[in-house]
Amino acid sequence: MDPKSLYQSLGLDADALKDGDLAVRSPVDGREIARIRTDSSDQVDAKIAAARQAFLEWRRIPPPKRGELIRLFGEELRAHKDQLGELVTLENAKILEEGKGEVQEMIDVCDFALGLSRQLYGLTIASERPGHRMMETWHPLGVVGVITAFNFPVAVWSWNFALAIVCGNTVVWKPSEKTPITALACAKLFEKAAASFGEAPEDLLQIVVGAQDVGEKLVEDRRVALLSATGSCRMGREVSPRVAARLGRTLLELGGNNGMIVAPSADLDMAVRAIVFAAVGTAGQRCTTLRRLIVHEDVYDPLLARLKKAYENVPVGNPLEAGKLVGPLIDATAFENMQAALQRASAEGGKVFGGQRVLQSEYPDAYYAKPAIVEMPEQTDTVREETFAPILYAMKYRAFDQAIAVHNDVPQGLASSAFTNDVREAETFMSAEGSDCGLVNVNIGPSGAEIGGAFGGEKDTGGGRESGSDAWKSYMRRATNTINYSTELPLAQGIRFGEDS
Ligand code: NAD
Repeated sequence: MDPKSLYQSLGLDADALKDGDLAVRSPVDGREIARIRTDSSDQVDAKIAAARQAFLEWRRIPPPKRGELIRLFGEELRAHKDQLGELVTLENAKILEEGKGEVQEMIDVCDFALGLSRQLYGLTIASERPGHRMMETWHPLGVVGVITAFNFPVAVWSWNFALAIVCGNTVVWKPSEKTPITALACAKLFEKAAASFGEAPEDLLQIVVGAQDVGEKLVEDRRVALLSATGSCRMGREVSPRVAARLGRTLLELGGNNGMIVAPSADLDMAVRAIVFAAVGTAGQRCTTLRRLIVHEDVYDPLLARLKKAYENVPVGNPLEAGKLVGPLIDATAFENMQAALQRASAEGGKVFGGQRVLQSEYPDAYYAKPAIVEMPEQTDTVREETFAPILYAMKYRAFDQAIAVHNDVPQGLASSAFTNDVREAETFMSAEGSDCGLVNVNIGPSGAEIGGAFGGEKDTGGGRESGSDAWKSYMRRATNTINYSTELPLAQGIRFGEDS
């Protein structure tokens, strides 16, 4: 579909997307596909104020009713899955299958949040005092600021949004300045859901468009009770102390440097498939992309030979075309970073296979590259960095505990996996002495998480958890209630205050 028809099919006013100060380019071919107005400081301020006002009403709506609004939003997403998926591909250049997969993830999290809206349970706690009862209640927090990265332009926002809304909050969303159109489309679909719901206050969702300076407004504003920020470790290092300085809450989802251990007992057929999807899928631009392969020396040569063959045949090309598995990088800077990392790795003793630019004459303004494998003599500083591109560093190991040590010897701690049919190795990898990541998988790659689990990572990845399990607790405040239904006033710890002992 041409961009204009696509915008219209999602309820966007195509003419309004022509005269802003922010030029949006499609990484598919580098052409300008929209111009969008960025928000001034005053406009951001007004949107936060509106969201705060809406919160005062929304928090009174019972959670299962709030869930109904998210159910309706999920229905809009179902009805527009193909169009929104295509817009994700146009704006971000992941292949169409993955663009639609991202929308499916949004639908899944809406379903999850709907169920959750009837399960925001608190504990009851045995009181040490007679005639007393204790319990926990969970309450909405307020305005949740959501800053998102370009590589999952809509799914990561929806994890935050669906949960935040059923938990009784309102949301101010700053999408990546590289992918604002998909955010405006989501807002339109939500507007439709809110209209059929009928009882939602206006301003439950606000979009603020712009770059780092607009994000910083959310960081600094005390009315933003929780700031959920997804992006690079650099961004997290800037955001986290500034929110902490105002004693606000953060939920950080930052960079990963994900590894896989391949043991001698591994099913190599499965391992090859998992590695290729995890390392080259989304052109290496997932936070969970496989970047480090730690292979037992007995299976290293056959595995690497098979991987190189698969890499030679992987179809790189226009992500809107069927049959392509790897689209372009997001922009020229991403390509330059990839080349610089390959040069550094080579200077550190790495043997580079692939990585060169392709399709340059067909798409002079887009950055398609062959995915690269770099055989490294050891884990060097370059390997320890996350380069957001399809580079897979391969290293050998001899003993499993040594493989775990290498695996954990990076600053980031997001996703990890081990391919092994040895139950001792599998259990060790998942134990306290094993992988130090937030996502620890066996016989499956590190990428492509389901929404039912809590998603996030440790160390420089920021420690946040989103999406499934009990991640909803980040979006609420907990009150501990103690109720005295007796006629006495006993104090805790048996303290007697001003009474004869
Ligand atoms: P980025 O850090 O450049 O930008 C992310 C977002 O933060 C953008 O919206 C940007 O405008 C904003 N931003 C940047 N600096 C800011 C500041 N100082 N204050 C406020 N806002 C600021 O990241 P990117 O290039 O868009 O995305 C790629 C990175 O995101 C990778 O490191 C990837 O691993 C990470 N990521 C992590 C997860 C996760 O769940 N852990 C998910 C997706 C992406």
